[in-house]
Amino acid sequence: MISLEEAQERILAAVQPLPAEEIPLNAALGLYLAAPVISPVDFLLSNGKIYLLDGYAVRTADLTAATAENPVTLRLDGAIPAGSVFRGSVEAGACVRIFTGATLPEGAAAVVMQEDVKRTEGQAGVVFSEKIKPWENVRLRGEDIKEKEMLAGAGEELTAQRLTLLAGAGITMARAGARPRLGLLATGDELREAGSALTPGTIYESNRTGLSALARQAGAVPVLYPLLADDLVLTKQALKKAFQECDVVVTSGGVSVGETDFVKPAFEEMGGRLDFWTVAIRPGRPFAFGRHGENLLFGLPGNPVSALVSFFLLVRPALLRLQGACELRPSPSWGTLAEPLANRGERRHFVRVTVDADGRVKSAGSQASHILSSMARANGLVDMPPATTWPAGKPVAVLRWN
Ligand code: AMP
Ligand code: MG
Repeated sequence: MISLEEAQERILAAVQPLPAEEIPLNAALGLYLAAPVISPVDFLLSNGKIYLLDGYAVRTADLTAATAENPVTLRLDGAIPAGSVFRGSVEAGACVRIFTGATLPEGAAAVVMQEDVKRTEGQAGVVFSEKIKPWENVRLRGEDIKEKEMLAGAGEELTAQRLTLLAGAGITMARAGARPRLGLLATGDELREAGSALTPGTIYESNRTGLSALARQAGAVPVLYPLLADDLVLTKQALKKAFQECDVVVTSGGVSVGETDFVKPAFEEMGGRLDFWTVAIRPGRPFAFGRHGENLLFGLPGNPVSALVSFFLLVRPALLRLQGACELRPSPSWGTLAEPLANRGERRHFVRVTVDADGRVKSAGSQASHILSSMARANGLVDMPPATTWPAGKPVAVLRWN
């Protein structure tokens, strides 16, 4: 029996990022940068040196004496729409109407907000009743990021927010890790496809559906293969085909020590190098991990709750590393137990819980390994040591799986 952390380390030690690809930004959401992105420009950026808000561009010296009792009137010398540059400079005693996104004209050093002034009758002048500091309401070129500074680091996820920053700096393509192709095989003579008639002793197969969804959430491209009977020759053939077509193969079922468990012998007979462990967690039973050339095998237990939890804890980090991600752990959301939570067992338990928008954490129901409804209800897991009861009110980290 090995610890979860040891299993994770052994797996990650065998995983190298896949080759990176140049991807257009509008197709890169959720990918991980293969190299840092350096800004090709000063950001904020403008044609002139400065960039700003709505109002009137002024020379600050003209308004030194302006007060509500003794306002100062400046001559209005024109207007600058967004995207254009004022010809000439703002003269002493004058101001220029300016719109958000326009470039500050020569001579001016600040912008007085439109709401803070009055126009004279006939509109030829503007009345100011306050002084203003240099560069007020003005945004300086390069104020956010300077040319050659890093916009985003290697291994960081291309989120909507990072994509916006890169696009703002004029970037159109990013070098990002490829999405791994993940083949899914479900083994078991008792399994039937949903939609077909069940005969005594058979059940509907559900792991390929759940695991392919988790694989997609982890950035992989799932490939579903037909149901696999408990048979050595058929298992070898199916594994061979899946390894030819995919970077990673995930099997469910047939990985214990029973006479009908063929995943391990089939994999070894086709030349795969296998590690086989019992990981000291619940849910989760025996687990096989192996390498076949550059490719990886994850042999998950067939029980759907065990299969999905093992995938989340052991396969997901490997998929993220294959894509070049720097953070491989799920993001926890912190909450507070709304009721006591117990792990009466002798193994560390990843308890299925719900955490609501106010951070209240509750058990999602029965924690028995064959109960799928509590898994469906749960939006995350709480990692609990053996033989432990925690009181209501205790702060806990919930590993969110959706
Ligand atoms: P195994 O790991 O093959 O011994 O299977 C453990 C339990 O999970 C058995 O009750 C199987 O019937 C069930 N099982 C295995 N594979 C699946 C699957 N793909 N979908 C639903 N149940 C499964
Ligand atoms: Mg089986």
